[in-house]
Amino acid sequence: MAYDDNNIFAKVLRGEIPCKKIYEDDFVLSFYDINPQKKIHALVIPKGKYIDLDDFSDKASDDEIVGLIKGVNKVAKKLGISVEEGNGYRALTNISEHGGQEVPHLHFHVFGGEKVGKMVE
Ligand code: 5GP
Repeated sequence: MAYDDNNIFAKVLRGEIPCKKIYEDDFVLSFYDINPQKKIHALVIPKGKYIDLDDFSDKASDDEIVGLIKGVNKVAKKLGISVEEGNGYRALTNISEHGGQEVPHLHFHVFGGEKVGKMVE
């Protein structure tokens, strides 16, 4: 499957759709989910065109991979929910059909601000 340049997060990255930005650097953009599932629900996306974690693992550079993982941590710190700053959180990424992925641009969900409950319903 080819990357779809018209997916919603590609449009957010190009500034065509607004977002409530939390954090940005050379590798990632983070913003609040439009339909929050927990008290805090952030998204962290790589700036490169990657469909999902498998695509990212296959094609991204080492710098991009480090940048994304560190980006999740930076966002958690900024939101005050990291282990250092708060009480922890859940980071997860849905992959393709069985994973329930809706937007075909790799994104980590960051849930926190409260106990986030059972991992899988
Ligand atoms: P997925 O199911 O692909 O893992 O998650 C996609 C997420 O993107 C959902 O939690 C959904 O609420 C969020 N989302 C969809 N469209 C938009 C949008 O235009 N802006 C923002 N901020 N989040 C969106």
